[in-house]
Amino acid sequence: MRFTDQVVVITGAASGIGARLVERFAAEGARVVGLDLRGPTAELAGGADAAAAVVFRGVDVTDSAAVTKAMAAIEREVGPIAVLVNNAAIAVADGLIDITDEQWATERAVVLDGTFHCVRAVLPAMIGRSGGVIVNVTSVNGLAAYGQEAYSAAKAGVENLTRGLALRYGPHGIRAVAVAPGTVDTPAWRQRVTANPRVFDDLAAWYPLGRVGTPDDIAGAVLFMASADAAWITGTTLVVDGGLTAGGFRMIPTA
Ligand code: NAD
Repeated sequence: MRFTDQVVVITGAASGIGARLVERFAAEGARVVGLDLRGPTAELAGGADAAAAVVFRGVDVTDSAAVTKAMAAIEREVGPIAVLVNNAAIAVADGLIDITDEQWATERAVVLDGTFHCVRAVLPAMIGRSGGVIVNVTSVNGLAAYGQEAYSAAKAGVENLTRGLALRYGPHGIRAVAVAPGTVDTPAWRQRVTANPRVFDDLAAWYPLGRVGTPDDIAGAVLFMASADAAWITGTTLVVDGGLTAGGFRMIPTA
């Protein structure tokens, strides 16, 4: 129980990795507030023990005023925010020629601006208390190029925002870290590949550990980075990718 009575705010909480984060933080005693465009899935809403500890609010992270209002309401009505997990994201089309201005702007608005809005809204209260943790869920796409260039550029922006945050606000007792997943089997990802179900098998072959990730693989890393066990870790990224970024290619067996 690493988060007993701590208020943990998670964006993009209604699906995939965010939904699992809600359950895992609640299971370790946190009072969780999920922010999302939509409500929780039936599965989450019905979660037995977690139910009492979990609240959902409809918030679009691209709306700076709505984010500021929501964070103030959480501080007032739920309690001091100890942990913010910026997890909401979308991924627009591949490539840089056919992509529209609107797609580019939307990508940036959700991933980079959305993270900034949430960070700016929680910082003053965290500074006032000399404590708080911000975990940004980024991607291996923010560390190297794997296609999805607009998404990649926005995620790389969040990577550097994390380092800036750590430097500037570390002296105020605030930690800022990133967790960068490789491919994770979530509903969002499955939707993208329904046209070609074999892609999961093919992708798994690129991963030295022989499979893509699960929401639990990522949640375990996020909870560790948010916990007191990571008290001297800031301004860095924990890559959770089954070994994908360890090298350019999988090694060819020689024996
Ligand atoms: P997902 O689409 O299942 O969940 C994302 C959630 O964010 C959704 O519930 C969606 O409604 C919400 N959201 C989108 N725009 C929003 C907005 N403007 N305001 C508030 N909420 C909004 O995605 P996922 O696969 O669980 O990914 C979670 C995080 O992990 C994302 O940051 C993603 O970039 C990252 N990630 C995922 C993978 C993967 O393969 N699934 C790989 C690397 C990184």
